[in-house]
Amino acid sequence: MIIPAPGNVIVEVDYSSFHVLTLGYNAQSRAYMDLARSDAHSYVCAHMLRTRIKEDTKDELELATREHISDLAGWLSLPREALLDKLGWIKHHYGKGLRQQAKAGILGIGLGLGVDKLHSHNEASFNPSVAEAEQWIRDNPQATFYDPGTKRMRRVSTFPAEIQVMLAQEKLGKAAAKALRELLEKLFPEVFRWQFRIRQQAARDQFLVSRYGGIRWFHNVTEWNAQQGREVPGEDAEAAIAFFVQNDAFGKIREAMIEIWEETPWGRMMNNTVHDSLVFDVPEHQAMECAQDVARIMQRPAKMLKHPELCPEGLVCGVEVSIGKNWNELKVVRLEL
Ligand SMILES: [Mg+2]
Repeated sequence: MIIPAPGNVIVEVDYSSFHVLTLGYNAQSRAYMDLARSDAHSYVCAHMLRTRIKEDTKDELELATREHISDLAGWLSLPREALLDKLGWIKHHYGKGLRQQAKAGILGIGLGLGVDKLHSHNEASFNPSVAEAEQWIRDNPQATFYDPGTKRMRRVSTFPAEIQVMLAQEKLGKAAAKALRELLEKLFPEVFRWQFRIRQQAARDQFLVSRYGGIRWFHNVTEWNAQQGREVPGEDAEAAIAFFVQNDAFGKIREAMIEIWEETPWGRMMNNTVHDSLVFDVPEHQAMECAQDVARIMQRPAKMLKHPELCPEGLVCGVEVSIGKNWNELKVVRLEL
């Protein structure tokens, strides 16, 4: 547990979906950038719901959901407030459930994860419950699974009961990850095209240089697969896809840290950085002042991330401020900047 000095509080200022935003920026996708600034997870979740609600459902939430997403195709052209309302409703009703899968999928594409890793890194989100797996086994008694002992496929009922459930969970979870990946490719083809191009560039040049001057070497972006008779992604493929997305965000975070140090007293009170947030240990009566200065500086346009149409002044990412007596009691604070 992180506890501030006596009489102090912790102020955390956290970028919102920065890596989703830098991915949209790199892919020059205004839609993806807009969603990063609203709630991409709920938007994707709404699309997942479209195919999940059965025609003859009597469930109240499902009926309300069907009504709610009936105009989904036009959501991205709605005024911002209306879009936020739509997405907020989804988050409210599906935040603990299906939206977690959407979130895993969006974070996964940013990191260049394929279907298998997307699934294995997020089994808790993708795998169905034991009860659902058991129901599936009852509905699909013909299903067969590979048995490494005999190196053959065997009918599901010939495995021990707990193994049956595990196998079914694995199969259904992987299928869910695959379906999500396909949905994302359909929703944001420009993002995947950009990732493909960057991978090719990294494979050809064996290095990438970011806008903030970071260089990273790649030796194995693609490798020859003799069995398949073609080039396949190698062990550096994910790193190549993630490099600009991550380096752009961290370049801006470093820029903000330097400015906080040079322009304010708070740099000396910074004690941690967690993913894309900055954490300060400050006297309680100065907490709001610190939060406002830091939030203002972090939300300045990124000097090296400009685009003539998407962000001529530089990319701006929003932040969320939390203040609390310790790491466990942080509360989100709304600031007027
Ligand atoms: Mg964050």
